Amino acid sequence: MKQTKSYLSKTVDELRPSGIRRFFDLAAGIEGVISLGVGEPDFVTSWSVREAAILSLEQGYTSYTANAGLMDLREEISAYMEKNFQAPYSAKSEIIVTVGASQALDIALRAILDPGDEVIVVEPCFVSYGPLVTLAGGKGVTVQAEKENDFKVRANDIEKAITNRTKAIMICSPNNPTGSMLNREELEEIANIAKKYDLIILSDEIYAELSYDEKYVSLAAIEGMKERTILISGFSKGFAMTGWRLGFVCAPEEITQAMLKIHQYAMMCAPTMAQYAALEALKNGREDVEEMKKSYRRRRNYFVQSLNEIGLDCHIPGGAFYAFPSIKRTGLSSEQFAERLLLEEKVAVVPGDVFGASGEGHIRCSYASSMEQLQEAVKRMKRFIDKL
Ligand code: PLP
Repeated sequence: MKQTKSYLSKTVDELRPSGIRRFFDLAAGIEGVISLGVGEPDFVTSWSVREAAILSLEQGYTSYTANAGLMDLREEISAYMEKNFQAPYSAKSEIIVTVGASQALDIALRAILDPGDEVIVVEPCFVSYGPLVTLAGGKGVTVQAEKENDFKVRANDIEKAITNRTKAIMICSPNNPTGSMLNREELEEIANIAKKYDLIILSDEIYAELSYDEKYVSLAAIEGMKERTILISGFSKGFAMTGWRLGFVCAPEEITQAMLKIHQYAMMCAPTMAQYAALEALKNGREDVEEMKKSYRRRRNYFVQSLNEIGLDCHIPGGAFYAFPSIKRTGLSSEQFAERLLLEEKVAVVPGDVFGASGEGHIRCSYASSMEQLQEAVKRMKRFIDKL
């Protein structure tokens, strides 16, 4: 028999494992750690949503749904997108319910890419983007969003990276890991580039519900963009439903039908009970979302101000639940800082470089932790910096 490793796909073998995982594993072995490392809400899903899933089981709804998802749910998503984001999509032909936004990203990329096609990936970004482009046979071309511009990408930096192989641009606002949110003018500038070069934009809007200072603008609501946007969203973040694995993707009909082919063969449908839960979340869950949002906003204000006070320069993140302070003045790399902070003060954060080159010199801290934990974390971080 050949060596087991030799059976692996070369592409998969060469993928780097997620840099976040290493820190989880390291933190797991240490007692008393305050974790600001995880990218998920600290709320349990609303009771009425959990109850709807239980009820669906009691009623025996345990079989597959339509491939694209329950029609009732798609209709509810359609109404939700139109009412809240001015992005009207047809429940029949332009929406697919997916296994998290993660699967939506995967089928979107696989539906549009041929080998060698280039996708512009704006960094710092969610760790999956680059690997998913590679797995779909494409080539990721990175463009850095810079600290000097509060980590908002400049449209002309995107333009400089366009070649005749470019097919799509991936953006995420509010952003993981920086929390930065693009306003209407900034989105319009990127939209104009997409129109000028006839490109598609994959717009990851999973944090759309969590915008704190300005009204959220969906890319699909910008004039002339709906027809060249693949909009990715879901229930994990705003509705505190990470474990339910439920997301959705909205796109023009031809792209949706192409994604549906992949979804049909590779997944069949999203989990049925989670779909019933999501239906309830959309029908009656918005008040709870507003409450959670208020709570994140309070914590953001406290935490970001505290980081600046202890000497870690941090822009005010407009959305999501991440702060992305600079640690450059400590002279440590982000990896060294995160590792030493964990070992010496038992605070887990994620080194910024795992999200892309321009993340180096920064750390990602999730403030979706209790106020007490945030206060204690700030105390420990201050002690750590003072000691350096
Ligand atoms: N997109 C971004 C920007 C994220 O931060 C995450 C999760 O952290 C996802 C997508 C995946 O979300 P889901 O849980 O819906 O798969």
